Amino acid sequence: LVSRKWRVRPTVLDLGDGIHLGEGSLSIVAGPCSIENVDQMEAVMQHLVQNGVRMMRGGVFKPRSSPYSFRGLGLEGLRDFYRLARQHGLRIVTEVMQVSQVEEMYDFVDVFQVGARNTQNFNLLDALGGVDKPVLLKRGVSGTIEELLHSAEYIFSGGNEDIILCERGIRTFETASRNTLDLNAVPILKEKTHLPVFVDPSHGIGLREHVAPLALAGIMAGADGILYETAPVPERAASDGQQTLNFHESARLVEAMRRTYALR
Ligand code: PEP
Ligand code: MN
Repeated sequence: LVSRKWRVRPTVLDLGDGIHLGEGSLSIVAGPCSIENVDQMEAVMQHLVQNGVRMMRGGVFKPRSSPYSFRGLGLEGLRDFYRLARQHGLRIVTEVMQVSQVEEMYDFVDVFQVGARNTQNFNLLDALGGVDKPVLLKRGVSGTIEELLHSAEYIFSGGNEDIILCERGIRTFETASRNTLDLNAVPILKEKTHLPVFVDPSHGIGLREHVAPLALAGIMAGADGILYETAPVPERAASDGQQTLNFHESARLVEAMRRTYALR
């Protein structure tokens, strides 16, 4: 069902207020790795609005490699996130980690994110197939393109056709960067599926200084959207600070992405 053979016309998601995701426009989703507090959210929201970015990312349930790392503000934080975002006219993308959270989070989410560690959590995918809100599905840490498409098929076949695929880097033998951003996946996915394809250069390389060029490369490779991390003071972020852009870098990137997209 997610194949171009089944549907030739590209799927474009409509989030209301003139926000469309998919072919025909460049989507930008930016924000902190973790939602930390109201001041942080307000600062990011102002920054996004000033730069014409209409979608904010931020995790309240964080899948951390170590159980001792900051694991997010939970549902309480999500309520604040959603309320403040609405006040700023922003849509939010936030990660859901387990089936029971789908219902709990539903009223406070615009787009459910499935993280790289949950790409093959088939129960979660089944549950998201039954909701009427979009899902941003990340590629698994060691997942093939085919496996990503199969995961999308779980959601789609359950009745939810609003899916965004996101390349976020895979695990390879390379240790110089956190992950290896597989830009090959972009044209291959665009050829195979009618779904929108995003690139996440932040998790893709894990190094702040190289996020921007990879975002631009992702756009030239055919991505419909870029998702990246930005925060007021990246050095003090509760998670992923090393790959998070400050607002100055973020504003420059937004401008560069728009120029790059126009060249395509
Ligand atoms: C995130 O977006 O902050 C995140 C945890 O991403 P991933 O699942 O790709 O590691
Ligand atoms: Mn992160």
